[in-house]
Amino acid sequence: MTGFIVVGTDTDAGKSGFSAQFLQAFPGRFAYWKPAETGDSDTETIRRRAPSATVFEPLARFAEPVAPMLAAAREGRRMPSIAEVVAGVPDSPLPLLLETFGGPLSPWDNTALQAEMIAALGWPTILVTLSKVGAVARILQALAGLREFGILPAAVVLLGPEDEFAVRQIEKHADAAVVSLAFTDSGDATEIECNRAAFDRVSTALQTPFTHPAPTIADFIRRDRASVWHPYTSLESPDDPLVVVGARAEFLHLADSRRLIDGIASWWTILHGHRHPPLMAALHRASREIDHVLFAGVTHPAAITLAEQLLATAPWPSGKVFFSDNGSTAVEVALKMAYQTWCHRGDPHRQLFVGFDNGYHGDTFGAMAAGRDPLFFGRFDPLLFETLKIPVSAGRLDDALTRHRDRVAAVILEPLVQGAGGMRMHSPQELRDIFAVTRSHGVLFIADEVMTGCGRTGSMWAFEQAGIAPDLICTAKTLAGGVLPLAATLVSPDVVAGFQTEDRTKTFFHGHSFTGHPLACAVAVANFHEMATGQWKDDANRIEAVWRERLLPLSENRDVAVRIRGSIAAIEFAGTGGYLSELGQRMRAIGLSRGVMLRPLGNVLYAMPPLRTSDDSLHRIADAMIACAGSGE
Ligand code: PMP
Repeated sequence: MTGFIVVGTDTDAGKSGFSAQFLQAFPGRFAYWKPAETGDSDTETIRRRAPSATVFEPLARFAEPVAPMLAAAREGRRMPSIAEVVAGVPDSPLPLLLETFGGPLSPWDNTALQAEMIAALGWPTILVTLSKVGAVARILQALAGLREFGILPAAVVLLGPEDEFAVRQIEKHADAAVVSLAFTDSGDATEIECNRAAFDRVSTALQTPFTHPAPTIADFIRRDRASVWHPYTSLESPDDPLVVVGARAEFLHLADSRRLIDGIASWWTILHGHRHPPLMAALHRASREIDHVLFAGVTHPAAITLAEQLLATAPWPSGKVFFSDNGSTAVEVALKMAYQTWCHRGDPHRQLFVGFDNGYHGDTFGAMAAGRDPLFFGRFDPLLFETLKIPVSAGRLDDALTRHRDRVAAVILEPLVQGAGGMRMHSPQELRDIFAVTRSHGVLFIADEVMTGCGRTGSMWAFEQAGIAPDLICTAKTLAGGVLPLAATLVSPDVVAGFQTEDRTKTFFHGHSFTGHPLACAVAVANFHEMATGQWKDDANRIEAVWRERLLPLSENRDVAVRIRGSIAAIEFAGTGGYLSELGQRMRAIGLSRGVMLRPLGNVLYAMPPLRTSDDSLHRIADAMIACAGSGE
């Protein structure tokens, strides 16, 4: 449970008076926080007028009664950034009433408006104004402003003399409860009593996003079971799905008001944290200009910028970026490009791809052929094209490439960490050796960085740690910070060269409806700006240090292997029956009982949380994993 936001149509719209009355009307039910204030302290006023409320200190207080940004500048200080506000939300057992200043379009600081702060928090919002001349216009203007940022207040409150006409006008335009309150701002107990029914309406309007009543949860599950088919899940699974209604930072909010730590970053997608403010702000901004457009014969600024940003991280001086929309399609593109490259080079007999034991590259046909996991893809074996699968070993690769001389198009590997195959890790030296063998046979090398990319292993790309230059690089999951589906295949100049011809039969005939989606690209551009701060590196190191301190000691048990690389930690339990083992289910239940979402890969328990996960949450994940290890023995 987090809180709700009180925003006024403008300065002196009655926010503090309303907040004081609201807290007095519900003693002990809500806490108060004003992240930044100037002049006379509203925080102190609330302490005085609602003594039973828990009141948190602001992040910043400035003396002069002017706009906070200005007051801060005059004191040679700065406003806390939106990210700092989001990160600094007090850990309150009660829902917070968060009071803003000014109006929704007042600047928060030099870079953002107040509305962007509200959008970043994503909490239910109450819009208040004084019931006096111009109230309807002020409310409708503020609603229009908020709507631009995707914010639809749960309630609109008119403070002062009841105005039936105003209420009706606002109701016509606001999809919100519109409530009138008697308001002399005296804090008088009789005034609060006579407003009780109105406060109840406001509170009811707020309730919905906090918790769904139990019958609704049962109803969601019944409807889900009747109509939804979930990935990797038996239709007869005895386990009900968790009903998630919100997410922020490293947390998932469930409909039954539980809060879980997302220990696996929602299938390895969420890079910094859920609804990371700069990424959400980029999404809101972009959505005011564009939705989607095809990508053949058309381009857009976000895709161009993103391609440049991606190529700036590549190991070659130039090259190209081919967009798609998920990890499997990024891999399909790489496989098809590799084969077509050999066709253009006059060598169409190179039809074989080499993958590795425990490799996983996605669930589409080409990706299945490259992965060939017997449990997941064995059924489809008769339909898959021929590939080789060998142990992760330079020597074995050399043998295979020698045996199949002139027949292999490309080698495909997840650098340093093979994810879905059990978080199996190899060293940079082993990767360097495998790459050297591939090169010595003149075969193309595809780095599947769908899971390892964007900093998970402690470097931007995992392959960087081996100092190699793959021919094709696949990226997806974290590319847009996990906010939206987006994928890309980075193509080296050598491969590009084979397609640089006027012969239209040599075009790369491949594309998807949502290739290079403009909103996803805009978020990915913001993600790259975020990466440019370098904080991800400190975070990956910080997480790795916690794993080393807390989890490595488990490997003293002979039946337990611990593997750690960057933010990824895996614990493998020997002899417990592979992916379908009961142990996985048991460990998931232990995690949930401790407020941590884990999804073991059979007998391999792992964690890969968002990079900004707090130390406290990292230790809670480690505690849950240690508890699982205890139960596995
Ligand atoms: N490659 C790797 C290394 C992966 O881990 C995955 C997904 N787990 C994929 C490809 C496929 O990605 P997607 O699920 O987005 O199709």
